[in-house]
Amino acid sequence: MQNRISRLVKTGGFGHVEAVHLGGAFPVVIQTMWKDRLSYACIEGAAGEAVVARINRLKDMGCGLLRFAVPDLEAAEVLGKLACMVSMPLVADIHFDYKIALRCLDFPIAKIRINPGNIGGRDRVEKVLTRAAAKGVPIRIGVNGGSLPQELRRRVEVGELDRAEALVEAAERELAIFDEFGFRDVLVSMKASSAGETIRANRLLAERTDVPLHIGVTEAGPLIAGVTRNAAALYTLLSEGIGDTIRVSLSDTMENEVIAGREILNLASVSADVLNGDMVQPQRAVPDGVTIVSCPRCGRNGFDTHGFTARWLDYLYTLKKKCTIAIMGCAVNGPEEARHADLGITGAGGKVLLFRHGKIVRTIDAIDADIAFREELDTL
Ligand code: SF4
Repeated sequence: MQNRISRLVKTGGFGHVEAVHLGGAFPVVIQTMWKDRLSYACIEGAAGEAVVARINRLKDMGCGLLRFAVPDLEAAEVLGKLACMVSMPLVADIHFDYKIALRCLDFPIAKIRINPGNIGGRDRVEKVLTRAAAKGVPIRIGVNGGSLPQELRRRVEVGELDRAEALVEAAERELAIFDEFGFRDVLVSMKASSAGETIRANRLLAERTDVPLHIGVTEAGPLIAGVTRNAAALYTLLSEGIGDTIRVSLSDTMENEVIAGREILNLASVSADVLNGDMVQPQRAVPDGVTIVSCPRCGRNGFDTHGFTARWLDYLYTLKKKCTIAIMGCAVNGPEEARHADLGITGAGGKVLLFRHGKIVRTIDAIDADIAFREELDTL
């Protein structure tokens, strides 16, 4: 199997908007999608400050692109204003109405996701492509198993195609239109709710085009099911060098989607380092960051590892330095794991011990654990 080096596509990089490169040998980019409807009230006053703070936090956690559903022209205006308030490249997700795409392109929106099959005839697609090309904004063709064209669905039903082949055919039809208009800044996603179909569709298309691929299992379910299904599909594809940007779709928070994406990328990257043979993933850098070791907790615990981990989780994923943090419950496994971490905290008898690079630096009461941990973390 050959390494897949896809075409390079740049998003953002204008004005205050950060540039993010997709494809080539650039790192795989993690995305998530805003979960609520945007309104003017969301971006004004204290609510607006909270939205900006959350977007900045997602960026610090490792999210490279943030997508928003844009169901109407008002949402386009709101997203356009929001794009002026943050440096994170924002992506507009548009269905059915090409005028919404055109309006988004009046703002510093970094990327457009459309399903050309549902935004009207070729003249409308051409209008969007012409404006996007003039602004240097890339477009993702997003094909979903749940919204395949009628004719392809029928061919699947009669057994002429399987669903993965139908996804590829739908994507190739759209790519042909983009090719015809000479539009090169294009990405493709083909998502199904089945890990197997997602893998097969992306493998098929990866052999036929150099277009960067956005990969993920869609409608993957709640946290545990969603992470498991996405990990199976994304680990497999990334280990084969397929995938330039990922989203772990979850019926859960954006923060957890980003964390799951980071963990999957780390896993694929470590495996590519360790194994030979079929593991041919290009050595694309994975940004430095935290590895969290935490115990599952049991009846021996003298320290609530679940509560402590939940309180610190998002913040730990904003750390830019490469470090291991251990959060352990008791003296059985705690001191050993904590000793091997850069910073470790463990229950031990009635007390809590803090380890730093293998040495005990504090012995404290559980009630003081958060403050002491913060002080040690800040100077790590
Ligand atoms: S470290 Fe202690 S509390 Fe945590 S799971 Fe192991 S034995 Fe239980």
